[in-house]
Amino acid sequence: MVTPFALDPQQRAWCADLRTLTAERLRPLAAGGEPGRVNRPLVAALGEHGLLARLFPADEPVRAMDLCLLRESLARECTEAETALALQGLGAYPVVQSGSARQRARWMPEVVAGRAVAAFALSEPAAGSDAAALELCAEPDPSGAGDGWRLSGEKTWISNAPEADVYTVFARTGQAPGSRGVTAFLVPGDSAGLSGRSLDMLSPHPIGTLTFDGVPVGAGDVLGVPGGGFRVAMRTLDLFRPSVGAFAVGMARAALAAAVAHAGERRAFGGPLKDLQAVSHQLAEMATRTEAAALLVYAAAAAYDAGEPGIAARSAMAKLFATETAQYVVDAAVQLHGARALRRGHLLEHLYREVRAPRIYEGASEVQRTIIAKELYR
Ligand SMILES: Cc1cc2nc3c(=O)[nH]c(=O)nc-3n(C[C@H](O)[C@H](O)[C@H](O)COP(=O)(O)OP(=O)(O)OC[C@H]3O[C@@H](n4cnc5c(N)ncnc54)[C@H](O)[C@@H]3O)c2cc1C
Repeated sequence: MVTPFALDPQQRAWCADLRTLTAERLRPLAAGGEPGRVNRPLVAALGEHGLLARLFPADEPVRAMDLCLLRESLARECTEAETALALQGLGAYPVVQSGSARQRARWMPEVVAGRAVAAFALSEPAAGSDAAALELCAEPDPSGAGDGWRLSGEKTWISNAPEADVYTVFARTGQAPGSRGVTAFLVPGDSAGLSGRSLDMLSPHPIGTLTFDGVPVGAGDVLGVPGGGFRVAMRTLDLFRPSVGAFAVGMARAALAAAVAHAGERRAFGGPLKDLQAVSHQLAEMATRTEAAALLVYAAAAAYDAGEPGIAARSAMAKLFATETAQYVVDAAVQLHGARALRRGHLLEHLYREVRAPRIYEGASEVQRTIIAKELYR
């Protein structure tokens, strides 16, 4: 039976195909990568297998539901593949959303083919949750034709930095305080004056800092309009927040499946673990919360695609609930596995490291609650 609360048969079949492709073709490439570094063969494979083209269909809007199903399905089989896909999306969506025809023609075919690696550079050492406090300075360039700027300052915690080929960079162009003085720029990774370094994180996520030492940008590099950069960033996050939830749902489903299998096989006190009521109730709780998280994610994505009102709150609810749920489910799965889950290389050891960051990035859980609460009084 197909109801508004379930995926249709076509979507389910697509998810199954995605999981097979990920397990057979992408996971081996991920295994060959170096933790914390961009895995170019993996990104190229996302292009070759048409996954990036599905994310960014030519002449059609990006569909939140497709993005969510891609992220959930890939995450179930290989978090590195999921993250590589998501970061191409996050870095390049501002170009699709607000870029000129020339900017789109320059970068989108390369991004979709997996030949150019994209990144989204908003966070700074003194501007994380409070992104509107960003300080990266765009000063008018006296040496240019009068329509250029030079970027100076720091970005940090930027996924795919410093190896990306193109960055969406948010900088302060005017005196206007807070979000009003921010402009989005498209900055090639090989720009003069741009450098950076990798950061060693708990998860294998490629991430780093960027230093801008008078990086030249012109009017043709502005995404949208000068002063409109914060809106570019927020519109990007509205699309991506439910999909962070989808990533979390994929991890929760992987952890739940591992826990169900293990509790069915592992014997203790004369029978399989699953026969202990405390264990079976724990599995039931994990399954129920995962299902609820998936439904919130699908509902938010469907609402986004239908252009319904209230997207900010729904996206925030989906991200908040799904990422908190995934943390709970992965932790419970570790507990049910006992010591073996903590052994380096075990699926749950990997998920335990992966599941933590999504509760912080693209708006920490507390920030999502603030968004939801604000909407309640709008
Ligand atoms: C793996 C990873 C990848 C990332 N990738 C990117 C990227 O590609 N591009 C990018 O621009 N950034 C990226 N980030 C940065 C991320 O967006 C920031 O870490 C996030 O916005 C939080 O900022 P912060 O870490 O400076 O924490 P802070 O802003 O210092 O907040 C710390 C904590 O304070 C609490 N807090 C903050 N504000 C509030 C509030 N209003 N109400 C209640 N409590 C609050 C929360 O508990 C929060 O976790 C990434 C981060 C990680 C971990």
